[in-house]
Amino acid sequence: MAITRVAVVGAGTMGHGIAQVAAAAGYRVTLIDATRDLAEAGVARVAVNLDGAIARGKLEPAQKDVILERIAVADDIARGAAGAQLVIEAVPEKMELKAAILRTLDQSVDAAAILASNTSSLSITALQRATVQPGRVIGLHFFNPVHINRLVEVVRGEDTQTAVVEASLAFVRAAGKEPVVVRDAPGFATSRLGVLLGLEAMRMLEQGVASAEDIDKAMELGYRHPMGPLRLTDLVGLDVRLDIARYLHAELASDAFKPPAILERMVAEGRLGRKTGHGFYTWTDGEGA
Ligand code: NAD
Repeated sequence: MAITRVAVVGAGTMGHGIAQVAAAAGYRVTLIDATRDLAEAGVARVAVNLDGAIARGKLEPAQKDVILERIAVADDIARGAAGAQLVIEAVPEKMELKAAILRTLDQSVDAAAILASNTSSLSITALQRATVQPGRVIGLHFFNPVHINRLVEVVRGEDTQTAVVEASLAFVRAAGKEPVVVRDAPGFATSRLGVLLGLEAMRMLEQGVASAEDIDKAMELGYRHPMGPLRLTDLVGLDVRLDIARYLHAELASDAFKPPAILERMVAEGRLGRKTGHGFYTWTDGEGA
């Protein structure tokens, strides 16, 4: 079934960006949240992003309204998603919430529609268990900020049908993104490697191997990483990284993911990175110093 209509459930950080890239690619989009006000707030964030693109000369001014007109809002999941061939949920990272939403969608949308989750860590196979038609459930893991970051992890659960993977890949490419296909495994491809690097950098800092600045510089200049692992941890949030490390430590049963004492201590002290002004760096006006 050709995809022309897309519904996005959850109009927050990720949902508004997913709605934006789909609308910019020509799809009709319905952005759904718990209230119309929340959904409208998501559309307002899209408008701000588009203004930024116009200011940078990346978008013709006339295109802004064309894109915004493709996005409708709704506060009811079943009604809002009706008629969509692809529904992407981007509600908070809670298994029960996502399972309940997939169950509602499974019962209400067209039997051939694809149901995707933007989860960054939950098992797609476990989410499939919430549905009667698990073969149409897939992971589409976009990255923040969605309108800028080009990667999408396409996560194949145990039951995901090959036709669903192929249609999802076509959608991701049409939306201007680069997909990688990953089997459903804890941490997918990105978090598993990225978090490991950050944790090892923290252990090196604890052991006095080098300063935070020099560990980051080593990766930036020596390995051409755009940003060192400690600065990146500050941007993501140390609390977020600690949660993921605990989850991967339990799921993969590998001590490589055991949270270092320095991470536990900094989170307990409220040094969460950029959002609190202090992490491995001191942040003033958004700039690490
Ligand atoms: P967010 O809190 O910014 O947005 C979630 C939205 O879902 C909110 O607008 C909320 O009102 C809405 N919502 C909650 N319950 C709802 C319901 N029952 N029906 C409809 N809408 C509901 O969260 P986010 O950061 O956008 O994260 C969403 C998902 O994307 C999570 O699974 C997260 O793990 C994943 N993710 C986040 C990032 C990131 O950097 N923020 C990156 C990749 C993936």
